[in-house]
Amino acid sequence: MTEAPNFDYAGRVARARNAMEDFGFDVLLASLGSELPYLTGYQAMPLERLTMAVVPRDGDATLVVPELEAPRIERHDDVFDVRAWGETEDPIGIVADLVGSRSRAAIGDRTWSVFLLGLQAALPATKFASARRLTAALRLVKEPAEVDLMRLAAEAVDRVAARLATHQFAGKTERRLSREVIDLTREEGCETVDFAIVASGPNGASPHHEPDERVIGPGDSVVIDFGGTIQGYHSDTTRTFHVGEPSAAYREVYEVVRAAQAAGADAVHPGVEAQAVDAVARRIIADAGYGDYFIHRLGHGIGLDVHEDPYLVTGNSQQLGPGMTFSIEPGVYLPGRFGVRIEDIVVCTDDGVDRLNRSPRELVVVS
Ligand code: ZN
Ligand code: ZN
Repeated sequence: MTEAPNFDYAGRVARARNAMEDFGFDVLLASLGSELPYLTGYQAMPLERLTMAVVPRDGDATLVVPELEAPRIERHDDVFDVRAWGETEDPIGIVADLVGSRSRAAIGDRTWSVFLLGLQAALPATKFASARRLTAALRLVKEPAEVDLMRLAAEAVDRVAARLATHQFAGKTERRLSREVIDLTREEGCETVDFAIVASGPNGASPHHEPDERVIGPGDSVVIDFGGTIQGYHSDTTRTFHVGEPSAAYREVYEVVRAAQAAGADAVHPGVEAQAVDAVARRIIADAGYGDYFIHRLGHGIGLDVHEDPYLVTGNSQQLGPGMTFSIEPGVYLPGRFGVRIEDIVVCTDDGVDRLNRSPRELVVVS
């Protein structure tokens, strides 16, 4: 396993407190989701026993955790206290006491509704709102150590992509090939593997196709979209392979997507709006006559979540800045025929862009 980096949790919590001031909150509540590991290094179990960090703007932070989970916590006494609760205690009451008279609470989007409903009942004078804008602002710009981990995760999936170029495709079901991609991703160093979409032939026209029993054969385009984590940080890449020699019509579509992907990545620069990068790639696909078949945004931010801010989508005027990490993943999806998608993670730098994924983007013919 890659050694855990020494993130500056105290610094992150201090920045969270400043952001609470900016966004008009006096306490931040973090449970499931990535706010909690971001601020404390601890990931909650997605179970019915409540885990919640209570981070007041003006007081000490406390991590409320089931007693049986407490041994898993890496203590950072300068950042948060730990309040382990026993099986017969009421964790909602404990959190409510810690919140006290604070009236404006930001709560993580992925907190189970049963906990939010309990807190609302216990704290009738407190107004709850989504913490998303606050925590997205904190996590939008990655620290160098975060980018380093994402680079390692990207290199791992790039090695898998290289191995797939000589892999046997024909005769296997999508499900089997997906399992093989997952195994390879682990072999190459990812600690968890989130997904391995394998979408062959007409199934490729569905961007998030669930691999099924379709047997891959000659003449198929095969979209493979996969990723895993290192120390909680995600990778996400897509390469589209062709089984046997492709037709001229297929090559044309492939080259349009490849040109759009290259132009999108090249358009990344500090100060450029997220939607402008989408527009650059989309223009190339539209000009080639496939605009109606590029049916999703160009990309999404990535970090502790596979999908997070910034989103490269029409309407998002967020200016890109150094340290932001996101995907560039145009695709063309022709119903009943095939799909092509090419996806890399990039990081915006001081003067342009750095690609974290570097496996070849040229069309690869497999057997
Ligand atoms: Zn992907
Ligand atoms: Zn993606």
